Amino acid sequence: MAPLKKTTLVVKFGGTSVADPECIERISKICIREAKEHNVIVVVSAMGKTTNTLVDLANKVNPNARGRELDMLLATGELVSIAVTAMSIQKLGHPAVSLTGWQAGFITESAHNKARIAEIKKERIEKHLANGEIVVVAGFQGITEEGEVTTLGRGGSDTSAVALAAAFKACRCDIYTDVDGVYTTDPRIVANANKLELISHEEMIELASLGAKVLHPRSVELAKKYNVDLRVRSSFEPEKEGTKVISLKRIKEMELTKAVTGVALDTKQAWIGIMGVPDKPGIVSKIFTSLSKRNISVDMIIQSVPRETYNDVAFTLPKEDLKDALAICQEILKEIEGTKIVSDSNIAKVSIVGAGMINRPGVASTLFNTFAKEGINIQMIATSEIKISCIIAPDQAEKAVKAIHQAFELETSSEPVIA
Ligand code: ASP
Ligand code: MG
Repeated sequence: MAPLKKTTLVVKFGGTSVADPECIERISKICIREAKEHNVIVVVSAMGKTTNTLVDLANKVNPNARGRELDMLLATGELVSIAVTAMSIQKLGHPAVSLTGWQAGFITESAHNKARIAEIKKERIEKHLANGEIVVVAGFQGITEEGEVTTLGRGGSDTSAVALAAAFKACRCDIYTDVDGVYTTDPRIVANANKLELISHEEMIELASLGAKVLHPRSVELAKKYNVDLRVRSSFEPEKEGTKVISLKRIKEMELTKAVTGVALDTKQAWIGIMGVPDKPGIVSKIFTSLSKRNISVDMIIQSVPRETYNDVAFTLPKEDLKDALAICQEILKEIEGTKIVSDSNIAKVSIVGAGMINRPGVASTLFNTFAKEGINIQMIATSEIKISCIIAPDQAEKAVKAIHQAFELETSSEPVIA
């Protein structure tokens, strides 16, 4: 048995990186190169758009297909990828083994189609690593204690990879995709958007949930919790370093030159306002408990200054949940004897995110001045320590993103250096 190398590296390849035999060979070479230095655990997604095709198939057969059988079907996509990836690595001369989620020890909770990982039993992977094999694991899937196959929710293989990196105390988790890193904003909107060298988990969570699709937000939450260093890089240009995603604490120790790291645009939100809500304890809790029970996650929440004994409460939510949420709010409105419900799904949310805005005055005013100069009306504002979000009209959104990107000088790079 070859002695285990000191460090373990997890590398994850998304659908576009394993789309065809040529791609599979390309990523196999990356794995073999990394195996010179590390024990390598590879996580793969389904090839290309396979998962979408499987979802369409299920819908054609039974539009109500959900739960157990859908998981059985969706889990097959990743099984194809692990087998061909392991074959390809073997052909190039390195020992490799493919493992399904359940063989790899992924124990999940029982919620089908969106299961959370409860535990990873490491013995099997450890054994193969000790044999000197590259271990190729199916992302996005696991098994319950009762032996039922589950999947983790769309985009879940990022989470599989980070969970493995945490369990095996990996030196890093490389997420390979079809872009070469995380950008200051969507390069399709701002042509001179910059690739970031470095971003904190916290900022990445905000950008990921605000619509920068490179990483699944849940995977970054997990990386933050277990302090896993991530790197987002391109499998098509593996020589590039990509973007490092590390803890905010380490970033705070650096001299941050810029207040804002990135600008995000989310056009998939709607808002609901509940008007004339009685100003007494327990009412707001009732509203948001009912919504969370139906799994509707709300984002910006605003309560107006009380007028006499009434408030207005407004919040944003994903457009796709608007119909359900409106029905729930109508019920609540009756119960709490509020005045009326208003809503709008024709909105855009523009946000600035940056660890550099902590303790730095003037960031909000620069943002608002930019909107003012562009003649853009702000409908709602919400802030956190590292984020300011504004709701505006969607037809002004791209103009806003361009102007904000410029106002915060994001087109010139000035990256902090990791000590
Ligand atoms: N193949 C799954 C999906 O398309 C999981 C993933 O790609 O992360 O959602
Ligand atoms: Mg994917």
